[in-house]
Amino acid sequence: MMDQKELAKNIKLIIMDVDGTLSDGRFFMFPNGDVVKSFDVKDGTGIVFAGLAGIKIAIISGKTSKTVQKRAEELHIDDYYEGIANKTVPFNELLEKYSLTKEEVAYIGDDIGDAEVMGMVGFSAAVGDAHPLIKRISHYIAKRYGGRGAVREVIDFILDAQEKWPSIFSKLKSSEDVDEILKKINS
Ligand SMILES: [Mg+2]
Repeated sequence: MMDQKELAKNIKLIIMDVDGTLSDGRFFMFPNGDVVKSFDVKDGTGIVFAGLAGIKIAIISGKTSKTVQKRAEELHIDDYYEGIANKTVPFNELLEKYSLTKEEVAYIGDDIGDAEVMGMVGFSAAVGDAHPLIKRISHYIAKRYGGRGAVREVIDFILDAQEKWPSIFSKLKSSEDVDEILKKINS
């Protein structure tokens, strides 16, 4: 198998699952059916940094959720797919939309519904508490758990591999919209 770092160098789009990946997989359900999930602020910051580095972020969720929709809006994620039974469909749409090869795509997931796309991408990453089968097929296994910084850890690994930090920090410093960026980071 190729070196993880070499694989991470090619990445231009990071796709992630929601439940158990961007969230910790737990949810609170109210009697009226509304569901609340919890996210990690560090994951959000990582997503903003990836954006500053010119890397696209997409979310593909098997479920539908107003909470996740709102979080995706807040993080300025353009490509948010929800209620998706077969994740290869939006995956192929994204390849076409951004004219990317599979090698240029990373996927972060935690469970069996992610396996098919994870087997297709150039860099597959499992959260620390992913299902063992998912860990087995991944190029990278995060130490951190889903919804507890795993997404940040994977994004950091990709940004490290691509040596993106100097450009991110200079953008943070020079941007007239620094307040806007910080607002996003702190949200
Ligand atoms: Mg999941």
